Amino acid sequence: MEITYTSTRGDQTKYTASQAVLKGLANDGGLFVPNRIPKLECTMKEIAELSYQDTAYEVMKLFLTDYTEEELKACIEAAYDDKFDTPEIVPVVKKDGAYYLELFHGSTIAFKDMALSILPHLMVTAAKKNHCENEIVILTATSGDTGKAAMAGFADVPGTRIIVFYPKDGVSPIQEKQMVTQKGNNTTVVAIRGNFDDAQSGVKKLFADEEMEQKMKAAGYQFSSANSINIGRLVPQVVYYVYAYAKLVQAEEIEEGETVNVTVPTGNFGNILAAYYAKHMGVPIGKLICASNENKVLYDFFSTGTYDKNRDFILTSSPSMDILISSNLERLIYKLAKNEKTDACCMDAAFMEDLAKKGSYTITESMKKNMTDFYGNYATEAETAEKILDMYQKERYVMDTHTAVASCVYDKYVRETKDQTKTLIASTASPYKFTRSVMEALGISCEGKDDFELVDELNRLSQVKIPKAVEEIRTAPILHTRVCDAEKMKEEVCDILKL
Ligand SMILES: *Cc1c(COP(=O)(O)O)cnc(C)c1O
Repeated sequence: MEITYTSTRGDQTKYTASQAVLKGLANDGGLFVPNRIPKLECTMKEIAELSYQDTAYEVMKLFLTDYTEEELKACIEAAYDDKFDTPEIVPVVKKDGAYYLELFHGSTIAFKDMALSILPHLMVTAAKKNHCENEIVILTATSGDTGKAAMAGFADVPGTRIIVFYPKDGVSPIQEKQMVTQKGNNTTVVAIRGNFDDAQSGVKKLFADEEMEQKMKAAGYQFSSANSINIGRLVPQVVYYVYAYAKLVQAEEIEEGETVNVTVPTGNFGNILAAYYAKHMGVPIGKLICASNENKVLYDFFSTGTYDKNRDFILTSSPSMDILISSNLERLIYKLAKNEKTDACCMDAAFMEDLAKKGSYTITESMKKNMTDFYGNYATEAETAEKILDMYQKERYVMDTHTAVASCVYDKYVRETKDQTKTLIASTASPYKFTRSVMEALGISCEGKDDFELVDELNRLSQVKIPKAVEEIRTAPILHTRVCDAEKMKEEVCDILKL
């Protein structure tokens, strides 16, 4: 049965999957949501026999119903190939009593590669299917990892251009170097004087700017998004939860049907929402444990039912989670509101208006009661560092800072609830991406050492091969030097596109 996509905010226009992928964001500023979450058609035992690519097909075909088998398989084959450093694509490793789902084996060594390796292919296919003549301009705000992964995916893809905005002082040195050395004639990187939320709000504003849309049209361009607001990001992320569960069954770590909890280090709520979708597709997932760093807006939301971004923005050692406006939460709010008697779209739109105007909103008591799938907590900077050291001492396993946040929060959950359910922890980045913070946590003196010296030290210490992504940028020339004020993003885009 065909799945259609509509806005979370009231625009009732129905879009096919490929149209939603192409548009990115609905006209009223809402996010596209499927009219229902499809159920898996295979048992876990059957899925356990499949490769990652075949699992991806089994899951994605249920959401992206207007792509033909041939189209979807071609996208999958092009995405999950030897760009990944292991044929398993996402290995699951057992460390200190939990299962770590390593999502960082792609070309930019963060979990964003899972979706951004395939999004360009889904988009170019969507453009063809919908007879789109315009050049697609991908506009992306990044807290560090999306930008590089999106550029790596879109670089030199015909018919596309990509412009990435990142917060000047809000990303790790390795992340910045990865971005400013990006090759490809169609890529542009801009540092903004502001934080990630400024970048994301600026991008959303540009999407809704009608004058801009007219100018773009006249020049033969149209915008789309590579941020996790694009449904084409979310759907590929559902795959690895299905795959990981099936692999645990196959390895006889769990029985088929046994409940597993999932812990996710969370920023924009995309990765954990994908786990929630997997649960609703039929994967036996129990609690969804939402881990925040000191920007704990989600923890407060799960405890109180009030989302309040009015607080100081803290720069932490897990910068990809330094976010106060967690975009994908809107999709959960919409789903919760749907269980109410009121019109879900109206309610969602009203909350989002409150968020834009006052910086906060409060959901109803009954919506709050329906959030029992989720548990939220957070880890401080000190706790995160301690966890990295503790895991290294116990297992000689080096985690990155984001994964460590998740691992800490998982410990807190177990202490608090005594729940012994087996748990999958999303491991979202290679420690090589956050070398300095990781080495400091391990008690290594970093003063006066540059990031690549630290990379070599981490290599000696962890015995994990230095990823190609890091070796490549060691000596790569800097190709991007644009900097602008957060308020000047529109002017910057006009300048880049010569509008
Ligand atoms: C983006 C990112 C996150 C947060 O994921 P969301 O889907 O935004 O919640 C966590 N860890 C790393 C390393 C990331 O790059």
